[in-house]
Amino acid sequence: MGFWWRPLGVLASALFVALILWAGSGWVAALGFLAGIQAFVMLRRLWEEFRLARWLENPDAVEPPDATGTWGDIFYRLQKLQRRHQARRGELASALEQFEHAAMAVPDGMVILNRSEQIEWCNPASRTYMGLDCERDRGQFIRYLMRQAHFLEFLDAADYSRRLVCKSPVSRELTLSLQLVPFGESQKLLVARDITDLERVDAMRRDFIANVSHELRTPLTVVGGFVETLADAPDLPAAESRRYFDLMLDHTRRMQRLLDDLLMLSRLEGSEHTPDETVDVPTLALALKTEAESLSRGRHHVVLRPESGAWLTGNLQEIRSALGNLVSNAVRYTPAGGEITLTWHTTRSGEGVFAVADTGEGIAAEHIPRLTERFYRVDRSRSRETGGTGLGLAIVKHVLTRHEARLDIQSIPGKGSTFSAVFPAARVLPAPAGATVIPFPERGQAAG
Ligand code: ADP
Repeated sequence: MGFWWRPLGVLASALFVALILWAGSGWVAALGFLAGIQAFVMLRRLWEEFRLARWLENPDAVEPPDATGTWGDIFYRLQKLQRRHQARRGELASALEQFEHAAMAVPDGMVILNRSEQIEWCNPASRTYMGLDCERDRGQFIRYLMRQAHFLEFLDAADYSRRLVCKSPVSRELTLSLQLVPFGESQKLLVARDITDLERVDAMRRDFIANVSHELRTPLTVVGGFVETLADAPDLPAAESRRYFDLMLDHTRRMQRLLDDLLMLSRLEGSEHTPDETVDVPTLALALKTEAESLSRGRHHVVLRPESGAWLTGNLQEIRSALGNLVSNAVRYTPAGGEITLTWHTTRSGEGVFAVADTGEGIAAEHIPRLTERFYRVDRSRSRETGGTGLGLAIVKHVLTRHEARLDIQSIPGKGSTFSAVFPAARVLPAPAGATVIPFPERGQAAG
């Protein structure tokens, strides 16, 4: 309300003077006086508006115009507003500066990419790890600066849960773990972490296991050979000695299996992916059925249901070993009289599924997520009894991961389990003309 007193006061005074003039000198003098006042007010307003416009051109550098009356009030309020903005801008700038200092000090390489994957900002560590320079490379497309095929593939996949482990483009000595994190409208943060030491320790661990397994294998083969020869000797003294020899033979074989599995695992972990070949899955399924029957020695009913004639691209040895482990588990964990069913089919989305179902003891839900860990067993003594090494499903998982495939496990305790190896559609091939044709049994009808 304070704003109105002064203009209303001026208006009232002008009207009062005009009334006196009207009474003393007539209406012409009164109107002339009012017109003069109006012209003065208009000119003043124009002048103040001009000063306001001039100030608004550069409000930060110049002080607001000095004025009295209503205009003085307006200028004062604008100045207050401007000071408040300045203070807030200062606070924001200092927060931004602090954030930038913190980001600069982060030991991981960080690069902000815009929606077209151009570099908006990067920190000094990104120079050490990726050879980027924030000043020089700002606005550059990251794919022109980092051209490694697997990095481009990683960018295109835009799978934000995945990490890419690769050698640094700056030095082959450095191993990096790269991760993309989406933020804002469509920006991405590329984080590069140096995992050289971790990789070195992991490689040492792998080499150690591989070397120990390798070194143990030869003496064990010799010992196993002698035990076998002695156990077969016709003049073995007593039944008791035969029992001891059988036990020794059993344990050496178990150790040999363990070493074989350890060597297989370290080979899978240590080697790059082997070149792909075509895998005739229906023929492999037949071989696995025969293998299951031989392991079962007639104790189970083994059924083969090849619902698809499709082939796969992958490594035959590895796929055979993985599926063989699933078959061996089904035989070992299914009591005599049970049924084991091998199925090969493709889903609507084109995935290839090799499933091994059994009517065995099943697995309680809480164990399922941990089954592929090395040496994880639901029942340790049961696994030993059946000749398990505790590494079978770890091998399966490694092989499937190398083929971008996954392992699905469904199980009902007391009823049975189904282990399915699910291969991506990109790896499924139509059977070539002239391939082995396995008769397709009617759905639901056993082919065993
Ligand atoms: P193991 O050599 O002990 O069988 P694996 O890695 O092959 O080791 O399997 C891990 C554990 O998963 C096994 O010890 C067993 O408890 C459980 N398991 C695997 N397959 C089956 C199955 N078909 N039915 C029931 N349990 C199974």
